[in-house]
Amino acid sequence: KKYVYSFKEGNKDMRSLLGGKGANLAEMTNLNLNVPNGFTVTTEACNRFYEENEEIWQDLENEIISHLHELESSTGKQFGSTENPLLVSVRSGAVQSMPGMMDTILNLGLNDKSVIGLANKSSNERFAYDSYRRFIQMFSDVAMEIPKAYFDSVLDSVKEENNRDKDTELTADELKEIVEKYKKVYKREMNEDFPQDPITQLKLATKAVFKSWNNQRAKIYRKLNNIDDKLGTAVNIQSMVFGNMGENSGTGVAFSRNPATGDSNVFGEYLMNAQGEDVVAGIRTPKEIHTLKEQMPEVYKEFEDTIKRLESHYKDMQDLEFTIEEGKLFILQTRNGKRTSSAAINIAVDLVNEGLISKEEAIMRVSPDSISQLLHPNFDPEDIKKSTLISKGLAASPGAASGKIYFTSEKAKLAAQNGEKVVIVRQETSPEDIEGMIIAEGILTSRGGMTSHAAVVARGMGKCCVAGASEVKVDEENEVMRVDSREYHTGDIISIDGSTGEIFEGEVKKINPTLSGNFEIFMKWVDEIKRLKIKANADTPQDATQAIEFGADGIGLCRTEHMFFKENRIIAVREMIIAKNIIDRKKALDKIIPFQRDDFYKMFKALNGHSFTIRLLDPPLHEFIPHNEEDIKKLAEELNIDKKVIHDTIIELAEVNPMLGHRGLRLAVTYPEIYRMQVRAIMEAAIKCKKEGISVHPEIMIPLSIDRDELNFVKKEIMEEINMVFEENSEKIDYKVGTMIETPRATILAGEIAKVADFFSYGTNDLTQMTYGFSRDDSGKFINEYIRKGIFEKSPFETLDIKGIGYLIKMCTENGRASNPNIQIGVCGETGGDPQSIKFYNEINLDYVSCSPYRVPIARLAAAQAEI
Ligand code: ADP
Ligand code: MG
Ligand code: MG
Repeated sequence: KKYVYSFKEGNKDMRSLLGGKGANLAEMTNLNLNVPNGFTVTTEACNRFYEENEEIWQDLENEIISHLHELESSTGKQFGSTENPLLVSVRSGAVQSMPGMMDTILNLGLNDKSVIGLANKSSNERFAYDSYRRFIQMFSDVAMEIPKAYFDSVLDSVKEENNRDKDTELTADELKEIVEKYKKVYKREMNEDFPQDPITQLKLATKAVFKSWNNQRAKIYRKLNNIDDKLGTAVNIQSMVFGNMGENSGTGVAFSRNPATGDSNVFGEYLMNAQGEDVVAGIRTPKEIHTLKEQMPEVYKEFEDTIKRLESHYKDMQDLEFTIEEGKLFILQTRNGKRTSSAAINIAVDLVNEGLISKEEAIMRVSPDSISQLLHPNFDPEDIKKSTLISKGLAASPGAASGKIYFTSEKAKLAAQNGEKVVIVRQETSPEDIEGMIIAEGILTSRGGMTSHAAVVARGMGKCCVAGASEVKVDEENEVMRVDSREYHTGDIISIDGSTGEIFEGEVKKINPTLSGNFEIFMKWVDEIKRLKIKANADTPQDATQAIEFGADGIGLCRTEHMFFKENRIIAVREMIIAKNIIDRKKALDKIIPFQRDDFYKMFKALNGHSFTIRLLDPPLHEFIPHNEEDIKKLAEELNIDKKVIHDTIIELAEVNPMLGHRGLRLAVTYPEIYRMQVRAIMEAAIKCKKEGISVHPEIMIPLSIDRDELNFVKKEIMEEINMVFEENSEKIDYKVGTMIETPRATILAGEIAKVADFFSYGTNDLTQMTYGFSRDDSGKFINEYIRKGIFEKSPFETLDIKGIGYLIKMCTENGRASNPNIQIGVCGETGGDPQSIKFYNEINLDYVSCSPYRVPIARLAAAQAEI
């Protein structure tokens, strides 16, 4: 088996074998660019190395040495020669780029003799010893794990003794002295002399690069970026070129376009008389690439031509490493450059305009999740560096928030009214906290997962939220938050980053995102290609307006219970719940109806002709009743009843398992008048709009059905009420009545249910909860354990479980359409905004997905990608 490839034998499509760096070095070699000669030891060799107890086996050594001989003849230099020595770099190169995570050794092949050869050949003794001291330090650090600092302190002391400010001011003699001292450090640490045999050096270096695949940094990086541990790294052995030969030489890095903004000008930095990573390491302040134009016009021209040529060749923005050796340009690395999400969009649009890529390719280049960065203000990365990290939770809802800590919604509200910025800190939030959440900058919870109340509601509002920060102990009663031994009290300022889950002490500066014109152009292309409609989950006119601005095709889910919680109406809602008979209940409902009508009216207006799916009341009634003594007393006074009545109601409504209790459609079977009130409000609002010339498309959605007859019972009730409204007003509205599919039974009986439904909308949160038998509010803990132990890849509450729940959805969709060909089918659960799930929904031909307003652009992009 072949384990070593010369650069001439490879190409860019061989990256899984040669690693990204090796594959691109080969590609550039074959493009006839000035790439120093060399060869690549494959990732397969790396994997075998780990199987062979981390030793380089004889055959591999032979193969490497034979390629080395080829390199000697093609360069005309010899390994270890005292006349014209060959020096090489030994460079790591993983399949996916892991910048700075693994190791590279430069100037290998130098020893006490060949350094003299290098000095003679170049007539530059200073350069030769500068290379040697660099090699000893790098080799010691990478291959022998001798701390760099030991060498730095030698370097510093020699510089000080001789009054040298910069490394470049050191003379040849001083560098010789440093080399001698470095060798002593090596001997002291290793109990043997610095290896003089170049072949031994090469074997040790190769081994060290293989091993750097498993250093701590690299492992953590792979984990964070979902890179497979089994890929392994390749090793590139390449003849050296020298940027440290004097003021006519240098080294630099450059991007073919600006990676922060996407601006199409070359962006980069370089240093003269420097080697390797001097630019990045910040030893001296590098110069801006455009000054190279004045300094070395010809070299610059060649550099610019090369980088643009590589960009057209790879059809993407390139990140380039180069070295100038005595006025001659060499290219040492190219790869597709990393970039911010706004740069990603600008570059993609520019590349289409320049005719380099198609719209489809441009769309595939931008990761849907990355554009959420463009929709929220973010913390300034510079300021983050200066801040103290307190802890980390789940990145539940993107955004950046700073403010004073408050532990209750009420106090938060008061503080906000006084103009303070607040961050609500709780163990977990509940529907009662909605108002507090609305005024808060952000929400931090210690319990609960990505679909906990706090997370879902925050995402819906586009509000920053960090959830499930389990190291943070929240003592709500004493209003203190503890992390290890640190304590934070009411009024202390913290900052939370909903895109990373990080929690910081004090206020971190923010920077505003700018939505450039290219973003709009890009999203227009997205809409041309996508088939799936993208609707939004929104309960307020502001959210509805926002959703339409973000390109939503209407509202796919309006949760009417959130309208019940607002201050002045919760009393009437509670009165309705406490009512002992239908007459009292209707009296209370009569008080609620004006509010609801007004809400719906405003929503219709904001939607201005877009479709509006309204879900009728879903949660169990006990959620609306106060539970602490003080609130109970207040309510009793306000309603002028005995406290005991409320206590009795609480006992009456208590359920062991409310999620499977008297909620949704069950509630409507018992108390049809509640849904009647809601549909009356909807239709009266619709008629009012129609009279004002606003077109309306209400779609009434009944939650949690299990059965055709059950749905039909409630449907008849509400249609009767609707017809009454039409008669009273001598006016009609086109409307639909459909149901959420959230129970396994409903998916099985879809064929029957579809006969009485105009649409289905999958509520994947409840459907997942009921199919798995996992409570969505409590399962966070053990789901994490499942993920850690490799049983689950992701939480089924975040990304649809295609195998199980997806199977039910597919079957339900097919059976529903078979019995009702006109049925509209969509999704309105959390997974409606998840790119991976959207791909599946597109594949099984659903009509729409609905997600929070701030995810609408993400979902649009994901839907377009699913079509490509
Ligand atoms: P990393 O992956 O960490 O960037 P590299 O293998 O790319 O590591 O090398 C580190 C630095 O050394 C880079 O600046 C690179 O350009 C430089 N370098 C690598 N090989 C050579 C070589 N053969 N001649 C000159 N410089 C080199
Ligand atoms: Mg590099
Ligand atoms: Mg539900």
